[in-house]
Amino acid sequence: MPIDLRSDTVTQPTDEMRRAMAEAPVGDDVYGEDPTVRRLEELGASMVGKEAALFVPSGTMGNQVAILTHTRRGDEIIVDANSHIFMYEVAAAAVLSAVQVRIVNGVRGEMALPDIEGAIRGVDIHSPVTRLLCLENTHNRAGGTVVGPDAMDAMAGVAHARGVRVHLDGARIFNAAIALGVPASRLCRDCDSVMFCLSKGLSAPVGSLLAGDREFIEKARKNRKMLGGGMRQAGILAASGLLALERMVDRLAEDHNNARRLAQGLVAIPGLSVDLGTVQTNIVVVDVSGTGMDPEAFAAALGKQGVLSVPFGALSIRMVTHKDIRGEDIDPAIQAVHDVVGA
Ligand SMILES: *Cc1c(COP(=O)(O)O)cnc(C)c1O
Repeated sequence: MPIDLRSDTVTQPTDEMRRAMAEAPVGDDVYGEDPTVRRLEELGASMVGKEAALFVPSGTMGNQVAILTHTRRGDEIIVDANSHIFMYEVAAAAVLSAVQVRIVNGVRGEMALPDIEGAIRGVDIHSPVTRLLCLENTHNRAGGTVVGPDAMDAMAGVAHARGVRVHLDGARIFNAAIALGVPASRLCRDCDSVMFCLSKGLSAPVGSLLAGDREFIEKARKNRKMLGGGMRQAGILAASGLLALERMVDRLAEDHNNARRLAQGLVAIPGLSVDLGTVQTNIVVVDVSGTGMDPEAFAAALGKQGVLSVPFGALSIRMVTHKDIRGEDIDPAIQAVHDVVGA
């Protein structure tokens, strides 16, 4: 079995999840009759401090349903230049919501307040309406970095002062909460909506939740149906999501410890460079340019040594720790990287 550090999405459901899935009481959720989905939506909403939540098949659909629900055709949304919404969602905001995307260069998920302010349009016959600011916490491309509550509040505050709503892409919001030692609900207190994934470090096989106030979630439910995300006996999936929220949040600290140990081992290898300051949760970005290999070649060579990673930008590979990586996998993973660099 390879040591699979490509992503926390490769996590297998636990035996307890599989049993709960087999036994879950279910109904037709498009009719609102699936008791397990309802329980999951209630628990998820409460954990992020929102009135209501909606179970969606993926994080991408959660973000896109949020954008569709917050905006109207021809509006503008502000996103970080390195955000998942801008980089990895197949231009869905343009296609599905017909909004214009304006990018701001943030640092590790934090946009400077004057940059946000400057990106918000005034009232002018030539300008679109700025409708939504999207934040991301933890920040994937920055290497899983966290944004603290004060910075979250400040960014949301600038938007709200100008009548702009705020959506949080919190795919890994519980990683941020554990790393910061604050409840997830505190981090998204001032966000109008938040999406988080059950299928990454929390190890459920499928699903994400979109949370917000009751009125927003009611509209989002209709938009989910329009996009083809209305599911029937989805309690089979929601049963694993409940266990993800009940049992898998606190253990994320283990993944963070493993990531730190991995990063500390790798930084000592000549030719590699790791910005230890960005290793705040479960993601380690390793600059391999000093080895003379490009990231694709490096990841391929490492794969032959039984350690899987992904090329990440022009210079780096990404390694992600998760439930199915044990503490004793870290030293062999470091040794394998050593062997690739030495070869
Ligand atoms: C994974 C991820 C998503 C999308 O989730 P999928 O379930 O893969 O569609 C969105 N935002 C961030 C920051 C992510 O890491």
